[in-house]
Amino acid sequence: MTEGTVFLNGDYVKRSGAKVDIEDRGYQFGDGIYEVVRVYNGNVFTMDEHMERLYQSADKMKLKIPFELKDFTSIVFKLIEMNNVQEGIVYIQVSRGISTRQHHFPAGDVPGSVVAYTKEFKRPVKSMNEGVTTTLVEDIRWLRCDIKSLNLLGNILAKEEAASGGHFEAIGHRGETVTEGSSSNAFMVKGGAVYTHPATNLILNGITRRVIKELADAHGVKFVEKTFTVDELLSADELFIASTTSEVMPVIKVDETVIGQGAPGPVTRKLQEWFTERIEKECNKLQV
Ligand SMILES: *Cc1c(COP(=O)(O)O)cnc(C)c1O
Repeated sequence: MTEGTVFLNGDYVKRSGAKVDIEDRGYQFGDGIYEVVRVYNGNVFTMDEHMERLYQSADKMKLKIPFELKDFTSIVFKLIEMNNVQEGIVYIQVSRGISTRQHHFPAGDVPGSVVAYTKEFKRPVKSMNEGVTTTLVEDIRWLRCDIKSLNLLGNILAKEEAASGGHFEAIGHRGETVTEGSSSNAFMVKGGAVYTHPATNLILNGITRRVIKELADAHGVKFVEKTFTVDELLSADELFIASTTSEVMPVIKVDETVIGQGAPGPVTRKLQEWFTERIEKECNKLQV
């Protein structure tokens, strides 16, 4: 349960006092967007990238966020300070506001509902060192996966498949083509090069994915944004997934198939090292 102070439509209030209307479109339709940003040492990692993506998601679904980007950014910073978050996340959500239930947009100037709250969250160090297992699922989501929308039913069903089988993540595929994880991007290493699905409407272009691309480019590791198949995935040298909370997470098994040596591979390891350096550059030295 989230505690402390949360931000709700312009006010900083106690968690227990933060209530939403039953006709909020986020609640009724999942008609809204969200972001999860990472806090290390009390500092936000890749804040601008996340806030920009929030506004891009909003534009893509014709949703107006009732704050300017820079004011919203200040709100998030203030919330982190008020809750004294050292290592954690901020969850940010904007819905299309409150109106009588109808599918089409509310008439007039109904303001979007804005919620933000913080949560303590430790780096998943053990999993990052040992690697995790995954399951493959058919990607049954809609065709605008580039929007970080509140509508997560396809992702939820996929993640449940993974969780009930004891796996960390479900990796999706449309037919033969691997898309992404239910809440992460998927990467394959083959012959020293990193492959990942191009940033089209079929995946969410992760901020972590973008940082990994920068790191690979900077260190001379070939980074290829090109689709690959389930067969290629299963015969990869290394696999990993990536997200704000999972960082660079090695995948050592996909269902019954052991990947590589069944341990985090050398390219994945290097990317993890460079990723940690990048965090420390932006958010100061991490406690180990
Ligand atoms: C949020 C998300 C990701 C990862 O994005 P990050 O910005 O790296 O956290 C990947 N896939 C999906 C479906 C997501 O919702």
